[in-house]
Amino acid sequence: MLFGRKNRKPITIPSKKVKEWKYTTCNYCSTGCSIEIGLNEDKKIVTTRGHAGADVNRGKLCIKGLLEHELFESPGRGTEPLIREQHFEKFEKTSWDKALDTTASKIKEIQQKYGRDAFAVVSTGQLLTEEFYTLGKLTRGCIGTNNYDGNTTLCMASAVSGYKRSFGLDGPPGCYEDFEHTHCLMAFGSNLPEQHPIIYWRLKEALEKRKFPLIVVDPRVTMLAQFADIHLPITPGTDCVLINAMMFVIISEGLQDQSYIDAHTQGFAEVKALVQDYDPKSAQHICGIDEDTIRNVARIYAKAPAAMSIWTMGINQSTHGSDGVANINNLNLITGNIGKPGGTSLSITGQCNAMGTREWSSCSGLPGYRYLENDDERKEIADFWGIDVEFLPKKRGLAQTDIFPAIETGEIKGMWLVATNPMTSMPNTARIRKMLEKLDFLVVQDVYEDVETNQYSHVYFPASVWAEKQGCHTNTERRVNLIDNVLPSFANSKPDFWIFNQMAKRFENSKTMKFPDKPEDAFNEMKLLSKGTHHGRPRTLDISGMSYEKIIKARGIQWPYREVDSREKELLKEESRVEAEQSPSTSSPKTTNLKGEQRLYIDGIFPTKSGKANLIPVKFYNNNEQPCGEYPFWLNSGRVVEHFHTRTRTGKIGNCNKFSPTAYMEMNPDAATELGIKHQSYVRLTSRRGDAVVLVQLTQRVPRNMVFVPFHYHDCVNRLTLGLLDPHSRQPAFKQCSVRIEHVDQSEAARLNVERRTY
Ligand code: SF4
Repeated sequence: MLFGRKNRKPITIPSKKVKEWKYTTCNYCSTGCSIEIGLNEDKKIVTTRGHAGADVNRGKLCIKGLLEHELFESPGRGTEPLIREQHFEKFEKTSWDKALDTTASKIKEIQQKYGRDAFAVVSTGQLLTEEFYTLGKLTRGCIGTNNYDGNTTLCMASAVSGYKRSFGLDGPPGCYEDFEHTHCLMAFGSNLPEQHPIIYWRLKEALEKRKFPLIVVDPRVTMLAQFADIHLPITPGTDCVLINAMMFVIISEGLQDQSYIDAHTQGFAEVKALVQDYDPKSAQHICGIDEDTIRNVARIYAKAPAAMSIWTMGINQSTHGSDGVANINNLNLITGNIGKPGGTSLSITGQCNAMGTREWSSCSGLPGYRYLENDDERKEIADFWGIDVEFLPKKRGLAQTDIFPAIETGEIKGMWLVATNPMTSMPNTARIRKMLEKLDFLVVQDVYEDVETNQYSHVYFPASVWAEKQGCHTNTERRVNLIDNVLPSFANSKPDFWIFNQMAKRFENSKTMKFPDKPEDAFNEMKLLSKGTHHGRPRTLDISGMSYEKIIKARGIQWPYREVDSREKELLKEESRVEAEQSPSTSSPKTTNLKGEQRLYIDGIFPTKSGKANLIPVKFYNNNEQPCGEYPFWLNSGRVVEHFHTRTRTGKIGNCNKFSPTAYMEMNPDAATELGIKHQSYVRLTSRRGDAVVLVQLTQRVPRNMVFVPFHYHDCVNRLTLGLLDPHSRQPAFKQCSVRIEHVDQSEAARLNVERRTY
């Protein structure tokens, strides 16, 4: 109470006249927040709120989630299928039948002329899991191309690859609750407050309850680095050197957990031998972190009763992203920090359903983490789907980042792009433009018909958005949650699930295959496929105990969650009866039987043949483009909190745009003085690939030899990036290349900026 006032005068918020709250899950980042959408008497959406009973977000949402309901009627939405002969002609509206028939016949024509793999399918991390599963079935089982991948190659491929190499299988082993138990958290290239605000809030809440050291490794003073106890401003692309030097200290001082290493890992001798070359005395000159700090951090990490690492694109988007992940896993394995509360290697996934595509889309293999290269698994899926096993390829085809260059060389002639926008997201977009122009046939399936990539398509499929559809997401901590139909589809747009099913009907193999009409029936197929064993042990990705009903009741269930026995079923019935009498928005799941397993590998047994985790020696090599006399600045890129990916959605939301309306460049004031550049002036950034005009923001967040530009804006940072590929994951190194800064005509640049902001 202020100034002795006796009566409280709370702010009153006018009622939005919500008649009904509908449950769903946020469709932006991988945090996986549960949302309730408020509808009024006329079934119109009037507001959104975080679900108070959901363990992930506990009532909170970030700006994107709070404004997500404005998506449904946002400008630029596709209303009807469109068609044209040449990409430079005007589109004409067409029927769904004509759009689907034309696409199917073009696919068949290209495949007959040039071979099955001459048609590529590139999808996303934004679809619902049942849609991913169905697209996989269609692409692998009916169309039969092996050049099928997702844009997750741009964000999480290195984490997938690193997990597979270390643990034998993909899947983050930890959970958000680990923040509550850890005694040291090391964040590599992860700016949680802007990228994953609600995960950051979970971390902050844990830190407020019990202080533990927060160590942030990032070349830039990010928002998370500002809150860190120790910030390590590492030289870009040298994280392997830092981790090797930390392991050198840990092993030479006998701080490793030798009993865990002996019982649960293989390859320690090789790692021990390799790290002898990374004495902090010499490593400091490569990674830019001084010897004493390396020793200090290594000791803090190894001596903590439980220590955990998180990472995002700072590790993944690198020429040694997969090695970086394997090395973080090495660090945690040698200190015994896997599978215990507060001790884990937790990749913070990017897109809302990047996990769903990893698990079920068949992009890099077959559903349920099965491999094309494994004869038994190929046969199992062919039998389950009802196709000839010989129809399936015996090894994985091209990754997304290799599919585009294959257009240049004439290997790929046609493409289907689903909810992805390579004209903004891929490195070196000038090159991508030429590739798309070269295609004989391009079909774009997207919520928005004004998505940049649609400039090059021959057919456009208008897709429904978010809660106009039904199906699941899996979040960063393996929690499966439900997106539920809140509204019917906009205009004549259709759910992606429907589009895939209709396309399947136009291919011969669908005569022997079953494509369920309802997402829940596809989910039931996935449940069946998730059961069984792998290397003689129960499958880790087991969702057989889940159902839509249970998922909503629990506000998300983590896998593995195996089939319940009949006694548990009775308990659930009773629980449903009790919960029906309570308000669904405030109650929490009452029993633990709706929770899956929070952590993987708690018994120290890994899904490798031997059951042991692999310790992998990681040698540093330096193949990045480096700053030089002609291009003296490192170019770094990343996110801002208001926008998601290429702004196809957040760019249409008024308040997201107001807070972050234009591309800008963070620049160090000392470097700016040297070049005579002023705060809030425009400059041209030039790399060996192209140029971009940006607004300058002077800040000490970046060192003197680095600039930072958000990656969301079209015709901006990715005109400059090189994107060398990681040899294991094929993920591009978006964050390591060099640029120079030039003066530009200010009024022309301002005119250009205004023009772009009309988007
Ligand atoms: S943190 Fe991510 S999942 Fe949560 S509301 Fe924001 S964008 Fe959505």
